[in-house]
Amino acid sequence: MNEGSNQYASKRKKRVNRLKKTIISLAFALILLPIFTSIYLVFKVTDLNRTIDSLQDTVDELYSLYPVIERAKAVSEAPKVNSEKEFFDDQDAGFNTMEYVHEPARDKKHKVYLTFDDGPSLYTDEILDILDEYEVEATFFVVGTNCEKYPDMVKDIVERGHSLGMHSYSHKYSEIYSDMDGFVADFEKVDSIVYDICGFHSGLYRFPGGSSNTVNSVNMNDLVTYLKGKDVEYYDWNISSGDGGSGVLSVERLVKNSVSDVEEYGTDIILLHDSYEKPSTVEALPQIIEKILAMEDTEILPITAETVAVHHIK
Ligand code: ZN
Repeated sequence: MNEGSNQYASKRKKRVNRLKKTIISLAFALILLPIFTSIYLVFKVTDLNRTIDSLQDTVDELYSLYPVIERAKAVSEAPKVNSEKEFFDDQDAGFNTMEYVHEPARDKKHKVYLTFDDGPSLYTDEILDILDEYEVEATFFVVGTNCEKYPDMVKDIVERGHSLGMHSYSHKYSEIYSDMDGFVADFEKVDSIVYDICGFHSGLYRFPGGSSNTVNSVNMNDLVTYLKGKDVEYYDWNISSGDGGSGVLSVERLVKNSVSDVEEYGTDIILLHDSYEKPSTVEALPQIIEKILAMEDTEILPITAETVAVHHIK
């Protein structure tokens, strides 16, 4: 009887121990599972981020080629008598739905405007020398933060006869296009920096990403109306050199992108960049100028208040 009860007690103890072990194992599993899951997810997220980065690079590459493809398409598809043309987005903003812009009757001469965005930078000086060499004047849409770094360059641009336009203070879409207040604060900053350096208010503006950028959460027409109230005209472009993408394009490609459609429009506003990461633009510039100057009935001019503005939005 005693032995039987001992056996029973020992079996019971074993069962209790097993149960205890099971409960402890379960508890461990419950604690460890989220830890391992978290670690796995961290790795997965890192991996996905890498994939996104590489996809972004591919997309940037494609964007840099986009103007070429689209222009080729536009040229072959456009009815010859149509005075309306397709325009292209900024490289650094991505592309969206094409808009059509009405172009006024063509003048006798093709007017070509070389525009340099995102500077000044250490390349601006070299660009100014090249422009001097060919005796042509261009337009520089400067970024406020870079004006603070290179105020003498800003002065130089003006003193050497070029037009100076504004291209925001920060060039950060998240700040400029967050809301109307964000845009106004950014505009006032760049406007006052230019005024402090040059002693005048520039009447020219170029939206980062162009007026057709898709990143803004504000109504672009409100921003345009605000600029109009400040007596400021904005200028997009109808020819993109393609130097705004993340990859560096070859000199040949830049020249081809910049000049192949000149003479297609009455007014050609060519988008180039004089930011510090664009050395090939400097290299391509002499050829771009030479090829344009060699075209019959074509002249290179700086943008002024009289220039027919090219707008991506209606
Ligand atoms: Zn820009």
